Amino acid sequence: MALSRESSPAALFEPPSSPPPLPSDYSRKRSRSPTLHDHSQGSSSSDAFLFSSDDAPEGVENYEIPNRKKRQYVGTWWAHEDKPARSPKRTPRPRAKKKLSRNNDSGVWLSSESSDDSAIERLAAAPRPVLFGSVPRAQNPPTEQDNAAGHASANEKIQACLENGIESVDLSAMHLGSISDELIQPLAQLIRNPRVGAEVPKEDSYQSFTPSLKIFLSQNGLRAVPMSLWNLENLSVLSLRNNKLEEIPPAIANLKNLTELNLAGNKLRWLPWELLRLVAPSGKLTCLNVTPNRFFQGGKFSGTLEFSDDSQEMVKKLSDFREALDDPEQAASREQIAWSIRLYETLLKRMETRDPAPTPRHECPAWKREPVYITSTPVARMDFDGSLQRNSPVPPSRASRDVSILPAAGAGHTPAMELANLPNKTRVPSLFELSLRAAAGTSSPHTLRNFFSDESSPKLVVRGLEEMERALNAGGRICSVCSKPYIQPGAEWVEYWHYADTLFCGAEDSFLPFLRRACSLGCAAAVNGGEVQQ
Ligand SMILES: [Zn+2]
Repeated sequence: MALSRESSPAALFEPPSSPPPLPSDYSRKRSRSPTLHDHSQGSSSSDAFLFSSDDAPEGVENYEIPNRKKRQYVGTWWAHEDKPARSPKRTPRPRAKKKLSRNNDSGVWLSSESSDDSAIERLAAAPRPVLFGSVPRAQNPPTEQDNAAGHASANEKIQACLENGIESVDLSAMHLGSISDELIQPLAQLIRNPRVGAEVPKEDSYQSFTPSLKIFLSQNGLRAVPMSLWNLENLSVLSLRNNKLEEIPPAIANLKNLTELNLAGNKLRWLPWELLRLVAPSGKLTCLNVTPNRFFQGGKFSGTLEFSDDSQEMVKKLSDFREALDDPEQAASREQIAWSIRLYETLLKRMETRDPAPTPRHECPAWKREPVYITSTPVARMDFDGSLQRNSPVPPSRASRDVSILPAAGAGHTPAMELANLPNKTRVPSLFELSLRAAAGTSSPHTLRNFFSDESSPKLVVRGLEEMERALNAGGRICSVCSKPYIQPGAEWVEYWHYADTLFCGAEDSFLPFLRRACSLGCAAAVNGGEVQQ
């Protein structure tokens, strides 16, 4: 007589075909990056730590009881909240209409659309504990001793990465007050670890040895970053979050493979204009986090940051803005409305003229992907020695924090419009400028300044050599118009650009300032705004 499966003794003692599923709590803990935990101590903006309580009625011997769950609390034990740290079960969020919102605690702008969840999860899964976190707080500057110890352990980490072909280098919160070129330079030689196993590799298992470097330098109190970092061609992810950087050099344009960049929580007043070369349509940078920083405040967006895919709706919105512009009651926000009109006009034009090829689902349409030029500040005009020309506005890079750098009135202002009637605009460099360029090209430009160290040295030469040092330390300067190297800029201004979709930002920071320099007034006068040459 055949026994049914239930009554068969063999079936009763048969082991299950697969291990029982882990409790949901367990799998959640496992998914948490171990490095996140490592760095939670001493880091001012990492996640609140999680602890569990043993005050449940069961004794220690009862730990074996199945389904017993320890109580979990967030934060310190003396001020715990009596609620679970996270919901054990996550229900997928319903797909909502695209609306950008700001999470005030994170210091990061993220879209609330469900399609962006994948990006968030991807970021969370990557081993970078402090890329995102709460708004940075003031830190005590690292002492020299801390710095030396930090350098030593950073060097160890880098050597381990080089040794094992690890592409993700986490140097976050290591008290690195400064970083030397010697520390970063070896990373240029890193090659991806070849995955060699016992089996013969299949055709599709071959991969390039070229690494996709990820470097995390957040929470170190850095005031400057060595040039060697801007020369790492294979860098794909860079986090400089929560440092003390006041400027990002134009050399960032060298990082052509950069896909994610975090500059939040620094002291930046502008972004380098060259950063625009790294974003769409030609660049690969798709995730850029820049808030909070101390940016020059430009205009603000009027209304909500929503752009319909329906051109009729966009036309309607545009006519509403135009009506509001003529409304005397809204006179106070005229400038704001003008910026919004400029933005909508450009987006609508792109929408109508671009190839209407269907955009793959979850992908941002091409017309939204590229940044939109809005306006610029008046052009600061410099003489050959760097002194300001008569009636020139203050260059934004020299303005003190108290001086506000205001955009020219009316959206759409360009240097070409402003400099059209200027009589003396040339592209020919001065003899002094040519001498500085020649000096910068010598084998030891940094020693030249030593020849002019006494009191009687001509001030003009000393100032020129100091400017040359600054230019060299920033990785050299290339004119943003003619792409020729220069030392002393002839013109400088700030351009305000809006990034419609791929940059996660809110209405407050929807127009970002980009500092732009040109080698001469002739070059500046050729800028119509809105073009980013490669
Ligand atoms: Zn030029």
